[in-house]
Amino acid sequence: MNLGIKGRQALICASSKGLGRACAESLCREGVDITICARSPEVLAKTVTDIRRIGGGSVNSVACDVTTIEGQRALLAVCPEPDIVVNNAGGPPPGDFRDWGYDAWSAALNANMLTPIFIIKATLDGMIERKFGRIVNITSSAVKAPIDFLGLSNGARSGLTGFVAGLARQTACHNVTINSILPGPFQTDRLDQTLKALAEKEEKLVGKVRKDKIQTIPAKRFGKPSELGDLCAYLCSAQAGFITGQNIVIDGGMYPGTF
Ligand code: NAP
Repeated sequence: MNLGIKGRQALICASSKGLGRACAESLCREGVDITICARSPEVLAKTVTDIRRIGGGSVNSVACDVTTIEGQRALLAVCPEPDIVVNNAGGPPPGDFRDWGYDAWSAALNANMLTPIFIIKATLDGMIERKFGRIVNITSSAVKAPIDFLGLSNGARSGLTGFVAGLARQTACHNVTINSILPGPFQTDRLDQTLKALAEKEEKLVGKVRKDKIQTIPAKRFGKPSELGDLCAYLCSAQAGFITGQNIVIDGGMYPGTF
């Protein structure tokens, strides 16, 4: 299927590794001109080289912390009028809510709720004027089925989800859609860190925790980042203009509900 987005501009946040990178690869392959970002310039530079090899659209990069105002300004200076925005950032640490003070909550809310909202605020009206826009937020399956030790993530991402639910209905008439992808466990560095933290908490070997986790997934494997990247590219496609305000779970069947 030709997704009809060749030559569009895309801003993909937090994208030198993992799920953000997978979205960048899938969009670039479709001929989209992409701008990616991450804090570590070395990893980012290598990712730019790798994605350029794939071919398709052009690849720009900005080494910045997307959760800061300066980082957002730097990113928008390089890609001021994106047609496509993928909101993403590192996830908050696991733990017990009794240990989290104001600073921990503030960091989680900033990274996983306010940062995407500010990026949407800076880019949405241009999309509306140009009569095309696709915004995809990478959140978590935890929005639908909370994960007990990821309370900061459960809380902050639900705030973003609630905000976007209202906004997405106001923009659809301008061919600007806003949707969220809710990943279950995908094989990335973040997953390795989460499994390690769980192993420490439960005083088990990481290998055992990993095996046990896989058994809880109906697909009996972790997700491949490229599977999420391709879903993201479809949500950004010309054909997906009638999908807005949705929270799409991609988790190998883990969420047990009928709907
Ligand atoms: P990952 O493999 O650790 O990759 C994170 C990427 O984001 C890296 O490129 C990292 O580069 C960049 N990044 C992190 N913080 C940043 C910041 N403040 N500014 C700019 N770039 C930043 O993580 P992932 O698994 O792809 O996860 C992405 C998001 O999805 C996270 O919020 C995670 O919690 C969520 N999620 C993941 C899973 C999963 O199973 N993987 C499941 C549910 C939800 P630098 O470190 O160099 O900045």
